[in-house]
Amino acid sequence: MTRLASGVARLGTETAFSVLARAKEMERAGRDVIHLEIGEPDFDTPAHITEAGVAALRAGETHYCPAAGIAELREAVAAELSRSRDVAIGPERVLVANGAKPFLFFTILATCEPGDEVVYPDPGFPIYESAIRWAGATPVPLPLREELGFSFAPDELRALLTDRTRLVILNSPQNPTGGVSPAPDLAAAAEAILDTDAWILSDEVYARMLYDDGAFASIASVPRMLERTVLLDGFSKTYAMTGWRCGYAAVPEPLVEPLTRFFVNSTSCVPPFVQLAGVAALTGPQDAVTAMVAEFAERRDLVVDGLNALPGVSCLSPRGAFYVFPNVEDVPMSAETLADRLLEEAGVAVLAGTAFGANGAGHLRLSYANSQANLARALERMAEFLSAVPA
Ligand code: PLP
Repeated sequence: MTRLASGVARLGTETAFSVLARAKEMERAGRDVIHLEIGEPDFDTPAHITEAGVAALRAGETHYCPAAGIAELREAVAAELSRSRDVAIGPERVLVANGAKPFLFFTILATCEPGDEVVYPDPGFPIYESAIRWAGATPVPLPLREELGFSFAPDELRALLTDRTRLVILNSPQNPTGGVSPAPDLAAAAEAILDTDAWILSDEVYARMLYDDGAFASIASVPRMLERTVLLDGFSKTYAMTGWRCGYAAVPEPLVEPLTRFFVNSTSCVPPFVQLAGVAALTGPQDAVTAMVAEFAERRDLVVDGLNALPGVSCLSPRGAFYVFPNVEDVPMSAETLADRLLEEAGVAVLAGTAFGANGAGHLRLSYANSQANLARALERMAEFLSAVPA
C-alpha cells in the first residue's frame, strides 16, 4: 500500500491561500469578490527593478550561481542592514534565499529538535508553528496583547523561557496585527534572552512599512544580540516583489554554513537575474517605496475608521505592515463564521484571527493591500451584512 510519511500531518499551512482559492472559485462562477485575504502589495514592482532583472536575463544571467547568494547582492544587503539596524554586518554573514520563508523553515530545522522549545508570537505568521512542529520541537506561544498595541509583554516572554528554549521568534512590524514592538520592550526581551542559550529569529520583512513617523527598532541593534540573531528581511513586501521569490538575512557565523547546506540540498540558488534585480532595488531610488508606504497609510486610516463605524467591531490603528486586526467579539457569531459568511454572502474575503493561532480568537484579519475604492466597497458590504445580523 502506498502511504504518506506520518510527519506530513504535522505540517501546517497558510489559510490565506485556501481562502484565496475559494474566492477565485466564486469568481469563476461569476461572483464579485473583494480580496482582503492575501498579504501582498497590489502595486507593480518598480520599473527600474524589473528593467534590471530583464537586462540580466538578456545578459545571460540564467545559470546556477553560489548557493549563499551572488557577491554583489550579499554586499548590498550587508550595507543596507548595517545602515538601517545600526550594526556592523559583513557580506560573509549575509545569505540570500527564495523569499524570507526558507529562512523560517531552515533556521528552525537547523537549530531545533524534539525536546527543544520555540517561543513564537501568537497570533503570528502560521509558518512559524508549522515549521516548529515539523522539526518535532515544542511550540510555546507568546501572546500578543491588544492592550499593548499587539506587542508582547516582556515579563510574559521572560516567564516562558526555560533551559529547553532553543529559539525565540519575534516579528515586528507584525503579521497579522500590524503591531510594532517598542525599542524598550525589545531591549527587555534581549536582556531576558541573554540569560538563555536561545537563538533569535527576528522576522523584519515589514521593517519599511511604518506609519505615524514611527521609528523602527530591531532586537539585533541591542548590543550582543547580533551574534545570536537571524535578522530576516526580503524584497517581497518592501518592493512589491512577492513573485520574484527573494529574501535575505544576516545570520550568526555558526549558521552560515549549515543554512547554505540547506539551500544546496533544496533549491540550489536564487536565480541570478532575480538577485541582480534585488541589487537594483537596494541601491536604486527609493521613492517608489516612500509612495507605497504613504498610500498604505491613507488606506489604513480609511479602513480603521470604516471598521470602527460598524456595529460590534472595534479596531486599533496599527503602526506597521498592511494589516488590521479588528476585534469582532461583540458580533453575535464566531469570527470563523463571520469570515465565512462575509465571503459567501457579502463577497468580501477576510481571514479569521484563529488562522494565526488561538490568541487570534474574536478577531478578523484584513489586508488593506487593495485600492481605496475596493476598500470602501468592502466596508459598505460589511456594513450592510452586519446591519442585517440580529443583535
Ligand atoms: N514573514 C512574515 C511575517 C510574512 O508575513 C511573510 C509573508 O506574508 C513572510 C515572512 C514571507 O515572505 P516571503 O515572500 O519573503 O517569503
